[in-house]
Amino acid sequence: MKNITVLAGGVGGARFVRGLLSRLAAAYPADTPSGSSVAVTVVANTGDDMWLNGLRVCPDLDTLMYTLGGGIAEEQGWGRAGESRRTSAEIAAYGRGWDWFTLGDLDLATHIVRSELLREGATLSQATEFLCRRWRPGARLLPMSDQPVETHVKLAAAADEHAAGDLVHFEEWWVRYRAGVPAAGFVQVGLDSATAAPGVVEAILEADAVIVPPSNPVVSVGTILAVPGIGEAVRATAAPVVGVSPIIGGAAVRGMADACLAAIGVPATAAGVGFHYGARNRGGLLDGWLVDTADADAVPQLEEAGIRAAAVPLWMTDVPATTAMAAAALELVPAPAPS
Ligand code: GDP
Ligand code: CA
Repeated sequence: MKNITVLAGGVGGARFVRGLLSRLAAAYPADTPSGSSVAVTVVANTGDDMWLNGLRVCPDLDTLMYTLGGGIAEEQGWGRAGESRRTSAEIAAYGRGWDWFTLGDLDLATHIVRSELLREGATLSQATEFLCRRWRPGARLLPMSDQPVETHVKLAAAADEHAAGDLVHFEEWWVRYRAGVPAAGFVQVGLDSATAAPGVVEAILEADAVIVPPSNPVVSVGTILAVPGIGEAVRATAAPVVGVSPIIGGAAVRGMADACLAAIGVPATAAGVGFHYGARNRGGLLDGWLVDTADADAVPQLEEAGIRAAAVPLWMTDVPATTAMAAAALELVPAPAPS
């Protein structure tokens, strides 16, 4: 085992990768910055990105960077530890921006530096690499694309100044409305002209294992897979593709992923999401799918559908629990021996 590639959203993806790095450091110890001889590449969803107050904000990349770099507000799951909100309050006093989307003072520095680099002509990949020199996340962090691809939600009902049928930015639906306004669907604005960022397709094709962590299947993993070339690479790679269920006992563990699944007609169950990704040997993506022990009933159905499955505890309550989950994911479908 030399290379592992993970397709990640924000909080669920970041916590899983932290456990994965801890597992690899224990199983494949080496004198490298990550503590392991296995290189991890994280392909991050950038569908939640936006320009806000003149700054490029990349919520999932930053959650990954802060979580893996030791700067995350742990309980909250996103944003910086020890954060304050003085600048946001000042911006709100001017009546600018989104008063329901707070940018913390420390976090703003990241957005300012990123925006400066982008304005100087850097790509998002280059800006991300630059920011990671400070945070040293222990994994290579790649945006899914260097072109802007922004998820918008088609509202199925009116809300405030929006009529039914309007498209709003994903963050407005998610943060302002807490996904409480029914969604008729999701549109990735910019997808048609987007390409996978440099290194992404190679990282998937050359991996010894590809992992789909317990990230939102629709607006995190689904968006990554929709980028031209990425879904195709996941289907084509010789590496086993193993996923971890973000749904336990019929509910999203945190957040409102069930509202996203409802919008695309996928049952919010561990098996439902596994079938949504589908079995690789039947045109889908997955060789293996881990479900929680509460969903052990789904294992025989998944296996019958051609997906190797196992039930293990999937609550990422702390790093040791998440390390054990990562170990189970790596063991579910072992990588083929090198030829
Ligand atoms: P986001 O971009 O911050 O929303 O994060 P992700 O897309 O990476 O992951 C969000 C999903 O992670 C949520 O919808 C949950 O279903 C899932 N999740 C969060 N915590 C846990 C956990 O402890 N265990 C499992 N299995 N899933 C989790
Ligand atoms: Ca996200």
